[in-house]
Amino acid sequence: MSIIEFSDWELDEFISSAISRLGWKNPTEIQTEAVPAGIRGFDIIGQARTGSGKTAAFGIPILETCSPSNGLQSLILCPTRELAIQVSEEIENLQGSKGIDICAIYGGTDIEKQAKQLQKGVDIIVGTPGRVIDMSKRGHIDLGMASIFCLDEADRMMDMGFLPDITWILGKMENRKQTLLFSATFPQEILDISEEFTNNPVFIMSNELEIEIPEIDQYAIRVGRINKMWALSRIITNMDSDDQILIFVNTKRMVEMISQRLNREGFEVSSLHGDLTQNKREKIISNYKSGESKILVATDVAARGLDIDGVTTVVNYDLPDDFENYVHRIGRTGRMGRHGVAWNFVSKNEKEKLNRIASTWNLKIPYTNPPEIKDGKRDKIRKRDDWEEESNSFGMVRIEIAITSSEISKYNLFEWILRECKIPDIAIGDIIIGKNSSFIEIHIKKAGFVLDILKNRKLKGKKLKPMVIS
Ligand code: ADP
Ligand code: MG
Repeated sequence: MSIIEFSDWELDEFISSAISRLGWKNPTEIQTEAVPAGIRGFDIIGQARTGSGKTAAFGIPILETCSPSNGLQSLILCPTRELAIQVSEEIENLQGSKGIDICAIYGGTDIEKQAKQLQKGVDIIVGTPGRVIDMSKRGHIDLGMASIFCLDEADRMMDMGFLPDITWILGKMENRKQTLLFSATFPQEILDISEEFTNNPVFIMSNELEIEIPEIDQYAIRVGRINKMWALSRIITNMDSDDQILIFVNTKRMVEMISQRLNREGFEVSSLHGDLTQNKREKIISNYKSGESKILVATDVAARGLDIDGVTTVVNYDLPDDFENYVHRIGRTGRMGRHGVAWNFVSKNEKEKLNRIASTWNLKIPYTNPPEIKDGKRDKIRKRDDWEEESNSFGMVRIEIAITSSEISKYNLFEWILRECKIPDIAIGDIIIGKNSSFIEIHIKKAGFVLDILKNRKLKGKKLKPMVIS
């Protein structure tokens, strides 16, 4: 495929000069396919990886079709308020001086103020479903006028949480002529529903639904709950001064807990979740977008769509419950061809979840140790013993020692441990004497104690170099 330039398209002159002011020269792949089809009025189901310019892929055709008329022509829906704001800003930037009225309509803000804005006339609404429904029930929005319907993060918008709202809105859009659905992920069941909402859609898919992950190095770290904070503090301590990190957890309570703990340790952290006032949410996002704040702890409210240049690192402190969101969370970094790193903290109980995420998306997520602390810096949080995490289902911790079958028998090793450690014999589990090293099992209650002794005693004149195997 030859490389296309925006100037090849004969776009509206306001739009094309806005695009060159943004410094964009070539459309991305999804834009190359979606913009011409969208301008010609086709319905589109468009899938492309995170950070590949999907907003403009639907935004440009919508702007081309709409005109400054003070009558609602297009409705774009997003799953979060922050995303509605971002999308409306991006579309505003793309229209240049075309004069179209674009309005962001989302919850948590003054209804009267929004109503006044709508009364002045609006051509394009970018909103969240709840508030859009509310405003149309109050008579401030006439959905019957709009002809273009667009869902950003379409799979999220059509899942059980939003589907009733979407169905209600579609019911009111009697004049709907074009439907545009975009996301980085389209699970099969959502694709099935999509086809009901669209009419002969053009499918734009990266490689037969094979998910494409941008340039993001993904790693897993085996770490239990009590040491996740230690691993996190290492990653944060190693950050360069202009790096930004986004840390995902699964609940609002965890957001509060993690950010308070990090604050106590002297890290400057902001936090984002759905229970904050809208004002606060917007302030936090704008400080983070501007690079003023560097560390953000968030729930999945930040998983989708947010486009923040400086995010170099994403941490899944907890693995997401929703597997689609894995792709979206890590996709907050590595945008527009930039490089990013994603760390996944995996406790004993989360191992299976990580396997399932990796196999769902056909990903390799290698296990590695937490990064070593960089020269001149030191750990702010100490690693703690976590025998619970290291133990098997019988409560036994496996320790490898550097003694071999040519040096000792199983019985003699057992006797030696009993004698040196003075522990009851039931605290000792299986012993395997190997050719290169041996393994002993010690009950969690005694594991730390035995490990210390093993570190400091010699057996047959040899150091044992004990290592916990998890
Ligand atoms: P997606 O929705 O696919 O995750 P976005 O629409 O948020 O991606 O776009 C990611 C970033 O790339 C944004 O900052 C956007 O302004 C920028 N961008 C989009 N299209 C282009 C382009 N053709 N050339 C350069 N930058 C672009
Ligand atoms: Mg997007």
